Amino acid sequence: MNRLFEDSGRVLAFGAHPDDIEVGAGGLLARLVEEGATVTMAVVSVPNNMEVRKREAEQGAATLGAKLRFVFDEKPNRVEDIPMHELVRRFDQLVADVQPDLVVTHCQNDLHWDHGLVHRATISALRRTTCDLLAFISSPEMNAHVRGYGNCFADVTKTIETKVRAISAHQSQLSHLDLDSTRDLARAMGRISGHAYAETFEVLRVRI
Ligand SMILES: [Zn+2]
Repeated sequence: MNRLFEDSGRVLAFGAHPDDIEVGAGGLLARLVEEGATVTMAVVSVPNNMEVRKREAEQGAATLGAKLRFVFDEKPNRVEDIPMHELVRRFDQLVADVQPDLVVTHCQNDLHWDHGLVHRATISALRRTTCDLLAFISSPEMNAHVRGYGNCFADVTKTIETKVRAISAHQSQLSHLDLDSTRDLARAMGRISGHAYAETFEVLRVRI
């Protein structure tokens, strides 16, 4: 991973829905942008309220300094309505376009079914790619009983407020999103990893 910070790496983040990436990995992605990486956020599906949620996603990505791609934005849909082979085909195209050094995606154990499907499709799409791979939990409260919170702690002290601003871009979702608990969780994870604020990830593949 250190190599990413030394030269400008390419990072590709997959999120099932608008706001998932900001909630799960917004602090790390903003930090990587500041350190010179090119970050592409891939939002797989927009389940409803298409125009509003696309605009919010654009604002969220812009706040992090990331590029944004929609994987399926022809019409509102749920990830589980998309055939897995089609999901993997589109992920394949994204991976070929971006040629990532690091991919960030949903955790396998996430209880949201769509999130688990995006995890599976990501793993399949990386079958011929030798990048690093981290997984995030995008709704820690919902997944509080899932084994641990990860085994990798990213220092997001300098970017926690950028992350909160990026989440706030999703105005239509703010009734479900607790910005105080975002800060509280990052502070708690920071306490156990020696940072003021931290995000946690599960390391699925890392080249050292
Ligand atoms: Zn989601």
